[in-house]
Amino acid sequence: MDAELLEPGERIGILTGLTPAGEVGDTLAFAAGRVVDSAAADAGVGVDGTACHAVDATGWVALPPLADLHAHLDKGYTWTAFGQPEGSLDDAIACWVDHGENHTYEAIKAGARRHLVAALHAGVTAVRSHTNYHLGDDPLRGIRALIELRAEFAGIVDLQVVASPGPSDGPDDLGRAAIALGFDLVGGFPHLAEDPAADLERSAAFAEEFGLGMDLHTDETLDPASMGLAELAARTSHWPTGVIRSAGHCVSLSTQDAGTRARTLSAVAAAGVSIITNPLTNLYLQGWQHPVGTPRGIPPLREIIDAGVTLAAGGDNVQDPFNPLGNADMVDVAAELVMAGHLTPAEAWHISSSGGRAAFGLPPARGRVGDVADVVLVRAAHAAEALAERAPDRIVIRDGRVIAVRRRVVSSVLDLGRLQTSPSAPTSEGALI
Ligand SMILES: [Zn+2]
Repeated sequence: MDAELLEPGERIGILTGLTPAGEVGDTLAFAAGRVVDSAAADAGVGVDGTACHAVDATGWVALPPLADLHAHLDKGYTWTAFGQPEGSLDDAIACWVDHGENHTYEAIKAGARRHLVAALHAGVTAVRSHTNYHLGDDPLRGIRALIELRAEFAGIVDLQVVASPGPSDGPDDLGRAAIALGFDLVGGFPHLAEDPAADLERSAAFAEEFGLGMDLHTDETLDPASMGLAELAARTSHWPTGVIRSAGHCVSLSTQDAGTRARTLSAVAAAGVSIITNPLTNLYLQGWQHPVGTPRGIPPLREIIDAGVTLAAGGDNVQDPFNPLGNADMVDVAAELVMAGHLTPAEAWHISSSGGRAAFGLPPARGRVGDVADVVLVRAAHAAEALAERAPDRIVIRDGRVIAVRRRVVSSVLDLGRLQTSPSAPTSEGALI
């Protein structure tokens, strides 16, 4: 069958005619949830007796599924309701504090579900989301909503929930109550605390007490004196391999001298700390006080990669006070890793997919024999075209099964059937005619 006709729920035995990209050639075969040599494909009938399709994927590339390692599902789609603040991180935080008390459990869950659905259709199969301890009655309503959604999306979009207390939320009564709900990682914002070192210690000790990993907002400031990344590496260097420790943002790294950056990144690599860059939000929130030579607020991505640090990326905010324009599509993030972060398109896709999976703790999905049978089919000639055009047509495959399809439908007075269109990225309508 033609890939154009695939629908959610259908199982795939073999894809042929792919445009080679990354580690995938023109054929990709699946059996029992794994990538296999094409001679061992499940085309025909799978192990569970369901039909496995042989699919003509001419015009499509198969790329690793996307992973959003820094989201705020509890804030999504609040931009208009929260008063549309204009400005810096401080402005956004103040707006959040002003309106947070009225942010209900129902609104949190509805926005978070909308975000996850949008992410799924974009090809994002793993999301790590922070959630605050919310103001007002029932401060754990965000954590509870996200944990419920984690179950709702199980096997479709993997969700890690990070409980992120603010500096004034107090150590631990709320945290201990939240533990009982079953969140995944301890979060926090040490750079916002009066005593960042003490705040880091509070989070790390709490994580250790409950045997959890940690993902901290780290150095989300242009102040070069903010050294939270190095402090996080020092504090967690003795943690066992496999216990997650991640640092989100790392903005101040972009303002420090080369020697400081090199020393910090060497320690970060040795400690097994992953860095999660959030280019969209940092471009938006940072630099409002610097009208001349406005800094980008993006850490030195090439140096991070070269140091051997696991680098992932996040969309961070979706139409909330911290970014009015986020859309849950990691392709937009990857595109910004090219434009503002100076990575190649292939590197940007890698960071936004495989890098995220590594930081999340998921097995590789590169399309190699033995990898899990998870890919996103993108109608494009290569990664650069996928990013440039934001590749509207995508088919999301997980465990060898189509779990989501997104198609662009266009129409016009032009007779698309008679127009010559590029075989690499035809419109849906053009391909169907
Ligand atoms: Zn964040």
